[in-house]
Amino acid sequence: MMRAWIDTLFAFSTTLRNVGRRRVTEPLPWKRLRAHPERYRAGFALTDDEHGEVACIACKACENVCPSGIIRVEGERRESPVTGKKRAYPVSFVLDMNACIFCELCVQVCPSDAIRMRTAWTIPGTSREDQVLTLERLRANAREGHLSWATPGRLRAMQDPERKNGEGGEP
Ligand code: SF4
Ligand code: SF4
Repeated sequence: MMRAWIDTLFAFSTTLRNVGRRRVTEPLPWKRLRAHPERYRAGFALTDDEHGEVACIACKACENVCPSGIIRVEGERRESPVTGKKRAYPVSFVLDMNACIFCELCVQVCPSDAIRMRTAWTIPGTSREDQVLTLERLRANAREGHLSWATPGRLRAMQDPERKNGEGGEP
């Protein structure tokens, strides 16, 4: 019992000693400690096409190429309410960043310039689920911006400089 009291007093005195001390930690992730390199990439986004619809056509090319097997895309064909034309849309898109190796192959193979990596600071999560990006989160990320310069077309152009994709190579 005596020992417990001593430990309590010791802990309390430690608290008192630190009450007025200057903070030595930084409020991450809201404070940037240093600028990111130009080519820093983290996180993903699914962009819209020129009609304001999700550009993804649920072709599953990203799902098939991903070496970590962490992308799952389910799609359906339906008529576009904007253009009246039929095309495929994703009804579910899940990208589990917990096992992502940031190889960017998923971006490179996308035929519709839909998926992009982001340059924004990645907000740490408190559970593995926090790092699972859904269709809604991916589209919200695109609206938020901070998209990498590396569009699928630009990445392909870097692999094959002869290829003309209308975007040029590096920015
Ligand atoms: S960047 Fe991540 S999600 Fe994309 S292909 Fe590589 S491992 Fe898969
Ligand atoms: S993001 Fe691109 S590669 Fe992936 S399913 Fe959609 S259109 Fe295909």
